[in-house]
Amino acid sequence: MRIPFDNSYANLPESFYSRLKPTSVSSPNLLAFNDKLADLLDIEQNDPAELATAFGGNSIPQGAAPLAQLYAGHQFGSYNPQLGDGRAILLGEVIGTDGIRRDIQLKGSGPTPYSRMGDGRAWLGPVLREYVVSEAMHALGIPSTRALAAVSTGEQIWREQGALPGAILTRVAQSHLRVGTFQVFAHRGEVENLRILTNYAIERHYPDATGPMDLLRAVCAAQADLVTHWMSVGFIHGVMNTDNCTISGETIDYGPCAFMDAFHQNRVFSSIDSQGRYAFGAQPGIAVWNMAQLATSLVQLFDDRDAAVEEATEIVHAMPKLLEENWLKRFAAKIGISAPEKGDTELIEELLGLMQTDGADFTNSFRALGRKAARDQFTNRDAFEHWHGKWQSRIKGLPDTQPVMQAANPALIPRNHRIEQMIEAAVAGDMAPFERLMRALATPYVETDADLSHPPSAQEIVPATFCG
Ligand code: AMP
Ligand code: MG
Ligand code: MG
Repeated sequence: MRIPFDNSYANLPESFYSRLKPTSVSSPNLLAFNDKLADLLDIEQNDPAELATAFGGNSIPQGAAPLAQLYAGHQFGSYNPQLGDGRAILLGEVIGTDGIRRDIQLKGSGPTPYSRMGDGRAWLGPVLREYVVSEAMHALGIPSTRALAAVSTGEQIWREQGALPGAILTRVAQSHLRVGTFQVFAHRGEVENLRILTNYAIERHYPDATGPMDLLRAVCAAQADLVTHWMSVGFIHGVMNTDNCTISGETIDYGPCAFMDAFHQNRVFSSIDSQGRYAFGAQPGIAVWNMAQLATSLVQLFDDRDAAVEEATEIVHAMPKLLEENWLKRFAAKIGISAPEKGDTELIEELLGLMQTDGADFTNSFRALGRKAARDQFTNRDAFEHWHGKWQSRIKGLPDTQPVMQAANPALIPRNHRIEQMIEAAVAGDMAPFERLMRALATPYVETDADLSHPPSAQEIVPATFCG
């Protein structure tokens, strides 16, 4: 195996991270490997045993500079001054065949100086969940961290449920810079580190940005696009803490996330989100809140603090409008409108209202629009027919409604109950459901495996998701 490492984060000041190696595991076994992603990363490989040793953390590939990154963050609104990679180790970076620099990180690879009370490990369930969901997000066209490999460790780890099989995920990201990476230096008053980090982020992600305020503007735009894109497929992130909010605009941290079956604006899956802070419909507001934290950090770089605060406030205050525009663009496409007008918001909201009262399946209702079967998704048929008439007159004469809808309404999403069934099988040693899900979700806009598009039966419903 050869990984063409080209590391940059390891050249930043030592205070940005702790250098350390993964902790070896007893018997690493390769469960999944993403050949296509390996090709993109220009990784040469042919020996599964060698992949298991490297991505299980038992050998350090040539050229790697392993380290755990420091960061802080607001968790459910309260500031935690030191988080950091508690169970992850950045092996290094590669520049892909597409010219993009990406991190290769092991997650679940043993304790680090940032582990606090944690064991530094992950169990098989959340590892395969992240593998499937992050790759499904990518296939849906939504910016996301990727999954390169999953390795079982042969060791047991302990969680509330008891002893569980340990596993390690190899995660690939355009970077692991988060709002929390800026916060840690800003809160400590380490302005020089903050400046180095800001320049690094600009160079790596937004090379056209002219300075910190322009960086803020770019991240606001990326996050507004991301969050509305999530919503357009019924995705609830579940833990939008500032340490899980990337600078690149990629989705990160697939802990307690879920795709909705029956639509509800206030839907929550995360077992720890008792207040609904990160409910489906709350996500745009939280994105703004998170950007306000980034802004608060960045203003510390300016001598004229008042002027910086004024400019940053203006940028953050522009975000709700940006979110509205992005939301309208995404949801209008779902009803076949590629050039939305103001009144379309009402039309879309009326449909979502019907879905909510009827408990209609979000994915299947949109996918069925324009077909006879659409009305079957609704119990209140008269109300739906009434809406349908209004919709028909709005889209009359538009040339491209069908292809626009086809591209905005996936046939397949990684449904919660299917993920749970897949995990149960994998724990019993059967990887076939995992492989089937991966195959089907690689082309989510094509109707392939009809049974995977069905909502859960009453017995199959998975009401909550966990951090793992
Ligand atoms: P999260 O809520 O997943 O974003 O994680 C919050 C923090 O907890 C991060 O600093 C993680 O690295 C850390 N963490 C989560 N699980 C573990 C674990 N099992 N061992 C050590 N640290 C962990
Ligand atoms: Mg996290
Ligand atoms: Mg997590």
